[in-house]
Amino acid sequence: MTIKIQSLNPEKRQSCPEEFSFGVTFSDHMFTQEFDQDKGWHNALISPYHSLVLEPSAAVFHYSQEIFEGLKAYRKPSGGINLFRPTENVKRFNRSAKRMVMPEVDENLHLEAIKALVYLDQDWVPAQEGSSLYIRPTMIATSPKLGLGASSNYSHFIIAGPAGSYFEGGLSPISVYVADEYRRAVKGGVGEAKTGGNYAASLYASEDVIKLGYSQVLWLDAIEGRYIEEVGAMNICFVYEGKKIYTPSLSGSILPGITRDSILKLAPTLGYEIAEQRLDIEQILADIDSGKITEVFGCGTAAVISPVGKFSFKGNEYVINNNQTGAVAKHLYDELTGIQYGTREDKFGWIEAI
Ligand SMILES: *Cc1c(COP(=O)(O)O)cnc(C)c1O
Repeated sequence: MTIKIQSLNPEKRQSCPEEFSFGVTFSDHMFTQEFDQDKGWHNALISPYHSLVLEPSAAVFHYSQEIFEGLKAYRKPSGGINLFRPTENVKRFNRSAKRMVMPEVDENLHLEAIKALVYLDQDWVPAQEGSSLYIRPTMIATSPKLGLGASSNYSHFIIAGPAGSYFEGGLSPISVYVADEYRRAVKGGVGEAKTGGNYAASLYASEDVIKLGYSQVLWLDAIEGRYIEEVGAMNICFVYEGKKIYTPSLSGSILPGITRDSILKLAPTLGYEIAEQRLDIEQILADIDSGKITEVFGCGTAAVISPVGKFSFKGNEYVINNNQTGAVAKHLYDELTGIQYGTREDKFGWIEAI
């Protein structure tokens, strides 16, 4: 199957504006394809960005059968555009599809669609340091039926829009509230899948903590309320004595981040030890108090690395590294973004140039 391209007339094409806000400005074009039981996936098309028309009874509106992905295209200072491990996003998209009883997409076609869209809208990849073009592949259930069950029809689409540097003036630590009462996901549920319902489930607690002056929630396991899972849209790492990095092992309810996986592979080559294991919140907080934990940071595509300066748990506050960005976070941030923007050697073969 090939992708048909209907592009805007050259005089109607735009480029990335000087000023933009993440997630509300989108590039000139989008990719779409449709699925039905007879034809399978068909109508692969790149066309001008447009609204979707759906029946109010479309399954996605009622039972949340939907999945998404998030990746970025980076403009190299020397010219040219890089994608970072896009095949991993495509594979995770299909794993999420399987879990949500949705049809898998052809990996090559999905990757081609991402590349063709970024190539066509290359003037939308911003050049300011730390900025990128954020790419959002999505699949939704479109069958017009309220009867409970998997949909028969699906739409797969990809949109893209500019994203600024996550941090103005370098990495700044965030304050994180450890959820005591609410839970994000449970083993056996859909926490491992990148599906909107996980976010819907987390909004209430997230909004609550913002009022208290915290920007993110750290989620604990739903069974014992004791083991650390992840933060908002990021996985989390704890640095002991400036050299050993611990991250929770994938428990079944944690989203397997590509940034997390990249750190697991990259950190040992930079002289750090790394361990994936079950991490008990009480032990972690005691190790922050005793100074054994020297840094904490979140990791995900949006921020790459996000230092944590403070935790709040059951009314107590725990400050890490004097609420300053630590050397390990900075080191990993520089190395990872260096690979992404093509200023550091790509020893792992993570880059796909466009
Ligand atoms: C997307 C996401 C992450 C981070 O994954 P990356 O592939 O590193 O961007 C972590 N947690 C959740 C819940 C996510 O949705």
